[in-house]
This record gives sequence, structure tokens and C-alpha cells, in this order.
Amino acid sequence: MNKTDKIPFLDLSTLHAEFEEELVSVFTDALRTGGFVGGPAVEKFEQDFAAFCDARHCVGVASGTDALRFALMAAGIGDGDIVITVPNSFIATTEAISQAGARPVFVDIDDGTYNMHPRELEAYLEGNCYRDEKSGYWRDRKLGRRVAAVIPVHLYGQPADMDVIQEIADRFHLTVIEDACQAHGAEYFSSTDDRWKKAGSMGKAAAFSFYPGKNLGACGEAGAVTTNDALVAQKIRMLRDHGQAKKYFHDVEGYNGRLDAIQAGILEIKLKRLPSWNQARRAAAQRYAELLDNANLGWLAGYEPEWSRSVYHLYVIRVQNRERLMKQLADANIGTGIHYPVPLHLQKAYKYLGYKAGDFPIAEAMASELVSLPMYPQLVAEQQERVVNAIQRFALESVMTTPARKTRYAAAGD
Ligand SMILES: *Cc1c(COP(=O)(O)O)cnc(C)c1O
Repeated sequence: MNKTDKIPFLDLSTLHAEFEEELVSVFTDALRTGGFVGGPAVEKFEQDFAAFCDARHCVGVASGTDALRFALMAAGIGDGDIVITVPNSFIATTEAISQAGARPVFVDIDDGTYNMHPRELEAYLEGNCYRDEKSGYWRDRKLGRRVAAVIPVHLYGQPADMDVIQEIADRFHLTVIEDACQAHGAEYFSSTDDRWKKAGSMGKAAAFSFYPGKNLGACGEAGAVTTNDALVAQKIRMLRDHGQAKKYFHDVEGYNGRLDAIQAGILEIKLKRLPSWNQARRAAAQRYAELLDNANLGWLAGYEPEWSRSVYHLYVIRVQNRERLMKQLADANIGTGIHYPVPLHLQKAYKYLGYKAGDFPIAEAMASELVSLPMYPQLVAEQQERVVNAIQRFALESVMTTPARKTRYAAAGD
């Protein structure tokens, strides 16, 4: 490797080159058998992915967005309901909520984990909602709607604090749907059950995306729902296939949201490699932390609580002059990304929700300060050294203030 070679933000071609023939054979098989949609390849992958997630059922669908929308609908969430989530996610999280007929309500995040702050969830429910004695559900006082569900997002591959969120959800009669679209294989230590749990095995249902850049990615669009609830799984099988359990007999109106056989075959091949890829990502994260520490920039390293085993879909650092750092890295031929530049409550599409700047200060600060560094299983130490050297040069030339962080979560008594 040359000292000035491009270090891309994401490198899918190196990843696929390792087993290109195997991938191509999936396509050849499909051509020869004519099996393109559904069939044994889809069923096999569903079984294996369910096992990977320690979940009883997996239903393959066309995208992560479909997975979220179908999971909500199958769990009985829809018309007029409120679904609580975080403002610092990809818009698919809230698209699924509104497209299921519900309304998103946001709560702020923690500045160490970048995930939903359980105390913010509790504060919204206690401060803004009342218990409807007749139904047992809680309602938003201003909106008058039933608060039906909460979607914690395991952002950047780090699980949300599920024990605490589940405890609050139980108390307030909420269904928990995990947005695990960035967290294939992530683990959470549940003190309640005294064991590690996989992302996708904790909520009523969980949504996964297999968009190409995800930790497990298709060569096109794909997604899946995992659940331990047989009825939810059965409903999603109907929803993804035009509401039919038997061909041309439609119990309900559904969607065209199936997983195709070629993507399932490709995912099957890649799933075998996922544990070692996730391990490589964790090793790369560890290496970033060490390199940053050696450069006296240890405070930039990611924060992983002892109950979390992140799969580092992304490796983000927090800096106050992000644009200049990104430019400097680009000049050194190093790719970066921003996830995400505008929090959902300030997007034009959500003007109608009535939020304003200042409503979620932590999510807003993260939206303007986070930079995603190159992160993929094939990232090597020399590349990471170059990235950290470039950050160090930037730090020497500019004032990089240490943001106060990792304090808020601890202060909340968690
Ligand atoms: C990728 C992603 C989705 C949507 O997945 P698609 O497969 O692109 O529809 C949803 N939520 C999060 C957090 C994601 O990162």
C-alpha cells in the first residue's frame, strides 16, 4: 500500500473480491432454476438469520424500511398512534412510523452512547402523558393520541440500553420494536436476565436492513424482521406478500415487500463470514482507540459501556470544527461521512410535527459535531495510522476543545 493511496470511507469491492465466484454462482443457480422470488433460498436464510440473532422467527423482506413498517403494523400499531423514537436516526425509522399510520414523537439521546436516553423517554411519558383508565394505555395530553410503541435505534452498531427501556415500556404499556438496521450481531448484557442478548432478540420484533453498506449487506436491497412471536411473524409473511397466505386469496391488503431469492442466496454466503467481519470491526475500533490515545486524543475515542458489544457499523468521533477536519482528511485522501447532518425533528419533511431548534440539544449537537471515519473489516493498521496522523496534524494546528461527555448517562444513575 502506498502512503497516499485513497482510504475510502467504505470499501465494498475489496470485501466482495474475496469470494466473488461464490457470489456469482448464486446468480447462475437462479438463472438455471428460474427461482427468483421466495423459495428454499429465502427460507434457508430466514432460518439461519433467526439462529444468528437468537430469535425464534425471521421473515425476509425487501428492505429495512419495510421491516420496520411491517413490524409496527403486525404488532397492531397504526392509525393515530404515537411511536416514540430518537431524532438522530436515518429517516427510514420515522418513515416507517408515519407510513404505518402513526405519528413520531422524539426523545433526546445520550451523548456517550449516541442512543436513546432512557430517562428522556421516561420524562416524556411522565411529563406529557396520562393514563387512560378505560384502556390502560397512556395518551399524550396535547395530542390526545395513544402512546403505543417505542423504537430504540441501535445506532452505529451499539445496542440501546434495552433493560431500562423495556422496564419503562412495561410500566407505560408500550410495545418495543428494535431498529437493528445497523446492528447485525451486536450484543447487550441484560442484568435482568443475567446474560448477553443479541440485537434482534429483545423487543417484540426487530428490523434489519441488508442495504449493501450495512454490516451484513445484500448486492441490492433487502431486509428482515426477527421476532419471538409466531403471530407477528405470520402477519408479516402476509403483509410482505399482498396480504395473502394462499395465492390469490387476500385476507387483508398488503404490500409487495418480499425478499428475492438471489439476495437471500448472497446473504446466506455473507452471513457465514459476518462473525469474523464483526470481530475485525471491533479490533479496528480498538486500534482507533489506541492510536487516538497515543496521539493524546483519547477523548475522541468511542464510548462503549460495559453492557455493550458494539459491532461498529460506523466509527464516529466528535469534534467542534467538523468541516475543517473533513477537508483536511479529504486532502490526505481519506474518506469520511456524516451520520446524520440534520436531526429528524428539524427536517423539512417533519415541519408538521411542530418541533423547533433547541428541542433536543444533545441530538442537535451531535448532528453538527460527529464525523464518521473509515470503518470496514478489511481496514488495516497502516490505514488507521494514516487517519489518526491526519487528525493529529489537524489537532496541532487548530483548537480542538474537549467536549464534556460521558457524564450525562452516569449522572442519571444508570
Ligand atoms: C439503513 C437503515 C434503515 C433502512 O434500511 P433500508 O434497507 O435502507 O430501507 C433504517 N434504520 C436505520 C437506522 C438504518 O441505518
